Amino acid sequence: MAEKIGRFTGFHIDVHRFRPHILWMAMMSENIEISGVSGRYWHPLSDGRLQCDVCPRFCKLRDGQRGLCFVRARANDEVVLTTYGRSSGFGVDPIEKKPLNHFLPGTKALSFGTAGCNLACKFCQNWDISKSREFDRLQVSATPKDIVRTAVETRSRSVAYTYNDPVIFLEYAVDVAQACREQDIQNVAVTAGYVCPEPREEFFGHMDAANIDLKAFTDRFYWKVCGGHLQPVLETLEYLKNETDVWFELTTLLIPGENDSEAEIEQMTQWIVEHLGPDIPLHFTAFHPDWKMTDTPSTPVSTLTRSRNIGLKAGLHYVYTGNVHDFEGSSTYCHSCREMLIGRDWYELSTWNLESRGSEVVCKSCGTEIAGLFEDQPGLWPRV
Ligand code: SF4
Repeated sequence: MAEKIGRFTGFHIDVHRFRPHILWMAMMSENIEISGVSGRYWHPLSDGRLQCDVCPRFCKLRDGQRGLCFVRARANDEVVLTTYGRSSGFGVDPIEKKPLNHFLPGTKALSFGTAGCNLACKFCQNWDISKSREFDRLQVSATPKDIVRTAVETRSRSVAYTYNDPVIFLEYAVDVAQACREQDIQNVAVTAGYVCPEPREEFFGHMDAANIDLKAFTDRFYWKVCGGHLQPVLETLEYLKNETDVWFELTTLLIPGENDSEAEIEQMTQWIVEHLGPDIPLHFTAFHPDWKMTDTPSTPVSTLTRSRNIGLKAGLHYVYTGNVHDFEGSSTYCHSCREMLIGRDWYELSTWNLESRGSEVVCKSCGTEIAGLFEDQPGLWPRV
């Protein structure tokens, strides 16, 4: 779909120093024409502004202003998505890299993203994409059909909406997802789950699996470090569990001194068991200094292992470590007999101790059902 992208006037927000209420008002304004595909979630306010209703930021836009995600903007009398049909790049990844350990293990996922983000995490590890204010990054023109064709050609079993948060390019993601389903390609969202109920229902209605970034378990962290709030994310998690069939796993990037205390991990894992059940896999991943947090040290492996043990003690069946080389912490075990079910060395799978019994997939050793979507054999990444 052809679109004319307005040129950014050069207004700059330093997300490291922002005060959220200032940032809230500091939506970028352009003197020149903005255009894109009509957005589906917004409404007019009595003062003449248009309110975007995609995420809990509820940006209120005058003509020519962009929202905080930068990719939704007001063009005349509507809110438009300015990045429809353009991607910041593609990659073919193992599904374990999303990370999803219980969804078609060992298969390939065609991964793509656009630009912008609706959170402002100071530790962002994809900041060159998510914080991009330069549409030059969107080099690749990709219609939904182009993406599906590429997925088929690369023998990818799924398309992953990742690199930046797909809820902000919902209309594009949904069109791609519909085209994928026609070709029996699965749809995988990698998202922070910071989205309002109506667009959430539409978005996840087209997804088969998701990894949700649960960034911390305090509102202090969400506000101070990401410029958002915890509660909408918890609501998304409960929605996914109670009202959809989407397979989802959780990821928490542990940042020394910010969200890695024993008390916080205990509260988080207990909440997950109580509200989402013990079968939701949880990934504790290591932080590396990046973006606006280059003075914070990397996460020690011992913190990941300690947190994994807290999660297992709370009753979670599957807790993983990530972003570090840890064969034990990244492998899957039967929660009943503790036999290793899937061995993982980074993204290479070794042991496979699962078998199908009727509609269930069970541990070969003791017959306990294992939650997730598995086939009789793992995919052949990286050999195909
Ligand atoms: S999706 Fe973008 S424009 Fe809409 S409320 Fe969220 S940050 Fe603002």
